[in-house]
Amino acid sequence: MEYKMGIIGYGGMASWHHKNSVKVPGLTVTSAFDIDSERLKVAEQNGLKIYDNVDDFLKYGDFSIVLVATPNNFHKYYSVMAMNAKKHVVCEKPVAMSLVELDDMIAASKKNNVLFTVHQNRRWDRDYKTIKRVLEDNLIGKPYTIESRVHGQNGVMHGWRAYKVAGGGMLFDWGVHLIDQILCMINEKVTEVYCQLFSIKTPEVDDYFKLLLRFESGLSAQIEVGTYCLEKMPRWYVNADHGSVIVKNWECEGKITKASEIVMEWEPEVVQTVGGPTRTMAPRPKETLEELALPKVESQWSDYYINVIAHLNGKEDLIVKHEELRRVMKIIEAAFESDRTHQSIKCLI
Ligand code: NAD
Repeated sequence: MEYKMGIIGYGGMASWHHKNSVKVPGLTVTSAFDIDSERLKVAEQNGLKIYDNVDDFLKYGDFSIVLVATPNNFHKYYSVMAMNAKKHVVCEKPVAMSLVELDDMIAASKKNNVLFTVHQNRRWDRDYKTIKRVLEDNLIGKPYTIESRVHGQNGVMHGWRAYKVAGGGMLFDWGVHLIDQILCMINEKVTEVYCQLFSIKTPEVDDYFKLLLRFESGLSAQIEVGTYCLEKMPRWYVNADHGSVIVKNWECEGKITKASEIVMEWEPEVVQTVGGPTRTMAPRPKETLEELALPKVESQWSDYYINVIAHLNGKEDLIVKHEELRRVMKIIEAAFESDRTHQSIKCLI
C-alpha cells in the first residue's frame, strides 16, 4: 500500500526527510505546516501543499503519516495532536523532553491504535554499523571499554539549540543518538551513570558533555560530545580481551589490531624507552601484532523509512521500538541528575 506523509515544521531536517523520501518506494510527502511563512514558501516551491494552521493541516491534509520535525519542546504537543487525529507519527529525536512526555506519546499511540516511532537514523550510520559488526563477529573478543566521540570545532549551537526551553544542548541533540547506538550494541543493562555537562561557548545549555555508562558485566562505555574541540579524537575506540579497534571518522578509516601468532617473551628487566624506564609500557615488537582491515559495511539512511512502510504494510517488525526510546530517555534523565548532584547514579536500565 502507498503512504502519504505531511510534515510539521518544515526546517532544515524536514527538507532532508523530504529529499530522502524519494528513495523510499511507497512513500510520498504531500503537505507541510509551519509557523514561519518563509519556510512555507520553501515547502511550496518544493511541490508541497502548505498550511499555516495545524487544525486545517490535520483535518484536510492528504496524508496518513505525520512527521514532527519542530524544535524539541513541541514534539509531544504535535505528536499527541496528530495521533488523536488518527495519523501515524514519525517524530524527530530527541523524542521528548522527559520520560513523562514520552509515556504520554506512547499512550496516545495505543489509545488511537496508530504507529508512533522516532527517527533514530544514526542506527544506519556506517561507522556505528562497522563497530557493531566487529563486536558481533567476535573479531576482537569481549570488549571492556568502548569510547564513542563526536567532536565539532566551530563552537556554535544553531538557533533554538542554544536555549533550555526549546530542549537545546548536546545531551539531547547528539547524546540521544550515541546513547541509542551503545544500547543497541550491548545486550546488557546499565547499572551506573555518571555525567558531567559543560557550557563552554553556549551559556544556557551543555555544549560539551562526558557520559560514563557501566554495564552489568563491568563493561564501560564513554560517550563524549563537544562543539569546541579543535583537535579531533577517533569516532570509536574499543578495547577487548583479544584486540583493539579504531574507527577514526565517518568515512570509516581505521583498523583492528590483534596479537599475532608469535608469542612474546616479556623482558624480566626494566626497559629503557624514550619515555624513561618501564616494563609494563615498553613498546611491543611489531611482529607480535597483526593488523586487520575493518569490515566493509553498507548502509542507507532511507532504510529507516523502508522499515516504517514495511511495518505499516504488516511485513516487518518496527526497528525503533517504544521500550528502546524509554531506556534512552531514562539514561538521559540519570545523566542530568548525575551532573546536578555531582554523583554517579546507580540504576538498572
Ligand atoms: P530548524 O530550526 O531548521 O527547523 C525547525 C522548523 O520548525 C522551522 O521551520 C520552524 O519554523 C518550525 N517551527 C518552530 N516552532 C514551530 C511550531 N511551534 N509549530 C510549527 N513549526 C514550528 O531545526 P532542525 O535542525 O530542522 O531540527 C528540527 C528537529 O529535527 C529537532 O527535533 C532536531 O533535534 C531534529 N534533527 C534531527 C537530526 C537527525 O539526524 N535525526 C538532525 C537535525 C535535526
